[in-house]
Amino acid sequence: MRTDHLALAIAAAATSLALATPAGAFCRTTTCTENCTVAADGCTEVGPHALALSWPSTCVSFDVHQDASSHVPWGAADTAARAAFGAWEAAACTTGTLGLKFQDYGPITCAQHEYNAGQGNANVIVFRDETWPYAGEANALALTTVTFNVDTAEIYDADIEVNGTANITTGMPVGYDLQAILTHEAGHFLGLAHSPDATATMFPRYLAGSTSLRSLAADDVAGACAAYPPRAEPGDCSDATPRHGFSSECAVPPTGKGSCALRSGPLPATGWVGVSLLSGLALAVRRRRQGRSRAS
Ligand SMILES: [Zn+2]
Repeated sequence: MRTDHLALAIAAAATSLALATPAGAFCRTTTCTENCTVAADGCTEVGPHALALSWPSTCVSFDVHQDASSHVPWGAADTAARAAFGAWEAAACTTGTLGLKFQDYGPITCAQHEYNAGQGNANVIVFRDETWPYAGEANALALTTVTFNVDTAEIYDADIEVNGTANITTGMPVGYDLQAILTHEAGHFLGLAHSPDATATMFPRYLAGSTSLRSLAADDVAGACAAYPPRAEPGDCSDATPRHGFSSECAVPPTGKGSCALRSGPLPATGWVGVSLLSGLALAVRRRRQGRSRAS
């Protein structure tokens, strides 16, 4: 097991934007851990094991923790989560609908992000109202952990933690819009990385008070469709059971680190158009890799 800090990904995205990278430049998270280089498109990792991540199934569940947040009660949080995943599920690919569907498994009791190799699992959305436990991500609004097989690039589990110490909102006036944040994080949940396309939900900037990230851009749709092309027989997503079964309860102490942080704070002094208009949600990516010995 290893943890990568992908601050370099931000710099790469910034460089690409400065070079006016055109739309259609979506990026996918890969398994590459060492000796990775970035291709001319500004995001594609090229390396000995640069396989793009994706869920191996066509039906994946998510769950909102039963306590939700003091800012956002469970019902509103669940509605925001459904809308966030729904936006991706509704992505209109050129040859049909997205080949991945989602099921809401309802409120769960486990408030930890974890993947259990021999026990039940859940893909949780949990709020951290009391304290944000990531000292290195003090300004983060959310953090997504994606656990995957380093050999096959199969995603095993994904968990989203939302920083409830921030002004997370679901209505007017909009602060840090939960649905917008979750739509971006859901992109990471699917295996997408940050896009250099400034119109994309996966662009690593968020305008506080804005709901624009709720709606996918063409670049987001292209990325999702590349990862999950339409299937001949879409099916009805009747079974979204996580790997090793579903469990509402935590099984083991949490391990691993997050994969994406929507971070508030000053923006880097780069050539971002309209940077002064943003109140500042910069982004960092960290991701956890599942060791080969624990990958089965
Ligand atoms: Zn992100």
